[in-house]
Amino acid sequence: MKLLQEKVLNEGIVLSDQVLKVDSFLNHQMDPVLMKEVGKEFARLFEGEKITKVLTIESSGIAPAIMAALELNVPMIFARKQKSLTLRENILVEKVYSFTKQESNEITVSKKFLLPEDRVLIIDDFLAHGEAALGLARIAEQVGAQVAGIGIVIEKSFQSGAERIKKAGYRVESLVRVASLEGGKVTFAAEEAVH
Ligand code: 5GP
Repeated sequence: MKLLQEKVLNEGIVLSDQVLKVDSFLNHQMDPVLMKEVGKEFARLFEGEKITKVLTIESSGIAPAIMAALELNVPMIFARKQKSLTLRENILVEKVYSFTKQESNEITVSKKFLLPEDRVLIIDDFLAHGEAALGLARIAEQVGAQVAGIGIVIEKSFQSGAERIKKAGYRVESLVRVASLEGGKVTFAAEEAVH
């Protein structure tokens, strides 16, 4: 997605060889016009998959997920990272390890929002090692729902996530794929280079 690549090139801050900061349009300040286009692109990619729910994780997944859900005309659910006081019973729980924070979080979703007949589209802002996406997939599968696909705004292709997700049998679509962050510079996967 060209618009997104340009945004990453112009505004992304390479914090290290492993971590990209995009707090001007996705992770802190959010760009609603860009998010609308991101939602449209996910809807186009997963058109025909008969998606009934979009599932993401708070907080940075919410903007792209709600825009995709709006385009697909289905509800969006976000998994919580902290146990809510009002969400005590009938919850689905999975452990997700964060490499960026070097800690495990329990993510939770209320059972009442996911049904066995659901076809779920999982959306997240970044794909690194696939922990968050695979945790969300396990949440959906706990109730017997089908994971119809995984949509990622920014994939870091040099980390293991995309491979792990494909090996697990899921379809993954990433709107931009970063091949390297070496030398303080963002390099996209060859087939997507901006000309
Ligand atoms: P994974 O679960 O795939 O290992 O990591 C994905 C999650 O970690 C995303 O939900 C995102 O919040 C965070 N993350 C991983 N790598 C990066 C990164 O380079 N930049 C930012 N901003 N977040 C990241």
